[in-house]
Amino acid sequence: MFTSDDPWEGVRVDIESSLLKLQNQVVLMRCHCKGLPFGMAKMVTQTMMLSTALKNSEVWQMGRECVKIQARINTIYRKMLGVPQGTNTAALYNEMGLINHLFRAQVVTLKFRNHILNIPDNILVKQLYMELRTDTPGINSRTLNGVCKIMDPLSESVGWSSPKNRCDVKKDAHELLCSLQRKFFEIAKGNSPSVRALSGWTSTDRTAPYLLRKAFSSSSLTEGRRLKAKLRLGSHDLRCHVDIDGSVTKSEWCQCCSLPQAVRETIYHSIGNCAAYDEARKECFSFIGSKVPSFVALSQNKKVDFLLSDNNPVCVDASIYRFLYTLFLRRAKLVEPTGPGKETMVS
Ligand SMILES: [Zn+2]
Repeated sequence: MFTSDDPWEGVRVDIESSLLKLQNQVVLMRCHCKGLPFGMAKMVTQTMMLSTALKNSEVWQMGRECVKIQARINTIYRKMLGVPQGTNTAALYNEMGLINHLFRAQVVTLKFRNHILNIPDNILVKQLYMELRTDTPGINSRTLNGVCKIMDPLSESVGWSSPKNRCDVKKDAHELLCSLQRKFFEIAKGNSPSVRALSGWTSTDRTAPYLLRKAFSSSSLTEGRRLKAKLRLGSHDLRCHVDIDGSVTKSEWCQCCSLPQAVRETIYHSIGNCAAYDEARKECFSFIGSKVPSFVALSQNKKVDFLLSDNNPVCVDASIYRFLYTLFLRRAKLVEPTGPGKETMVS
């Protein structure tokens, strides 16, 4: 018997433990940034994770996200892309073309409700559903009436109140999933500079095209692609993400070049301008210019945008990844391992 109104009661610990085991299994199966091609790794991981570890119980989320289970799922996705734990979830989901598990649960719930509303009135399930609509549990009741508390309000909020034709449900459900995920990303843009920057480098709400391209056999190019993902998602090692107003603080100062005035170590400075990487930049930019003549006339920041876009021409992929790999390798040698804020670095 349930002792609380937590719909995950009794299964949460089991599911968390299954996800922890799965996390190790998918790494062993090489579902990570240096292993299987990304599209295949995503398919394997999602098939195992969504259908096995969650035991098809998503319909019972009852409108609430189970934070601990969601955190385990997000950890698996971050490992797949090779980005750190602190990476913004909205950015991660957008990059990998994922749908938040709560939205999946909501759409499954709506399809389930639609199915019941479409069956004849003399069937018991339909009668139970209609009866639950009029049920009013007591104030201290632990019973959560999923019909009048969850299913009906949810269907009203997304315009699914009236029963839908069975032929339309699949298409409408897919459109709803996409629109819920897009809305989630739009809200995150308002709260996070890194998500705002990502939206400027993104051409689709599906998996970023550069991730789906043929994998490189060279470990430095594979690492370069991982670095591009980290830069796009705002989870890189540079001291700032993008430029902001105001004076430069000690912890933001680029330690790699010797410009006459303090400069923030942003993505645009490091990739587009920092003198420490002039040689590698010249080689990369010259090669791209030979393949894409319009690149030469772009402004410095637009050139950086070109490198970080999700659909740059395939022929310049290797050049971009080699440059990013070289840049961060050199940076590691230049920057004090103690990191930002060390007084002696700016005095
Ligand atoms: Zn610099």
